[in-house]
Amino acid sequence: MINGATNVYAVIGHPVEHSVSPMIHNALFQYYQMDAIYVPYAIAPADLADCFSAFEKLGVKGYNITIPHKKAIAALVGAHIDPYAKHVGAVNTVAIKDGKSFGYNTDGYGFLRAANESGCDVNGKNVVFIGGGGAAQSVAVKLAMEGASKITVLTRRQVQGNAICDLVNSIKNIAQTDAIANVGNYLGDCDILINATPVGMFPHTKNSPIEDFAGIRKGTYVFDLIYNPFQTRFLKLAKQAGCRTQNGLDMLIYQGFQSFFIWTGVFPDENITSVVKQKTCEVLGIET
Ligand code: NAP
Repeated sequence: MINGATNVYAVIGHPVEHSVSPMIHNALFQYYQMDAIYVPYAIAPADLADCFSAFEKLGVKGYNITIPHKKAIAALVGAHIDPYAKHVGAVNTVAIKDGKSFGYNTDGYGFLRAANESGCDVNGKNVVFIGGGGAAQSVAVKLAMEGASKITVLTRRQVQGNAICDLVNSIKNIAQTDAIANVGNYLGDCDILINATPVGMFPHTKNSPIEDFAGIRKGTYVFDLIYNPFQTRFLKLAKQAGCRTQNGLDMLIYQGFQSFFIWTGVFPDENITSVVKQKTCEVLGIET
């Protein structure tokens, strides 16, 4: 029951209707019997600064930020930003304490936790990304901070690969870039291969960013950040080549769980994790 003491959490975006975060966080608040509610707000870019200060004044406890506001919120929190979010230059989680906003980014954690749970330790690993957008950038920075030994970013536009390399190399000098067309030169000695393009996403499920996995070592970890379909063509081909594969669903769930942890100090347990995964698939229409 909502009452006078109920804590309010939110997600802001433009648009925001597609977000599964309200379902996830309200399920968690209910499971842990916390007196809290999580609501979506569509905020136009011109209204973002007003929203930022209104949330502080209204006593909102925390919120998630989705497209297109992640970079602008990073600027608004100023010095109150966690080191990883600062490197990435984007904030997807704000916690408000004593009327002040603190910025975090849980994207990289989501990937890392998903990788760890599938038995993949990124420390000392040679990682190859296909695609150089926002997701590749967040994950590449996290992996550099977590001890990856080499990061190769393959893109169709060199400017994107250069930007991620500059960012990663400012943390640790381990990044290089090349064209996706040259992927064959990198498969033989990579430990972790990540599709960070939307190629193969529903409804274009017959597509894959690469078709030829010749030369890849058996047992290589291959991740697709896409979660719909559950098994992309990219993952199917990787599996046929003897690789260990994982889709992006766990990353999606765990980045949300890390926000919940930042706000409440509780990391969701296994029972509610499986319920949330199942509900997420239902809501997104993912066939498992
Ligand atoms: P983004 O910023 O738009 O970046 C997409 C990247 O893919 C860009 O480098 C883009 O290059 C490239 N690309 C697009 N179409 C391509 C094609 N046909 N051939 C080669 N490269 C292509 O998107 P994002 O936010 O990084 O997201 C990327 C994927 O990750 C999406 O599928 C998204 O759903 C998924 N994702 C999943 C999670 C999760 O929690 N599992 C989180 C974030 C993102 P151009 O700029 O040249 O188009």
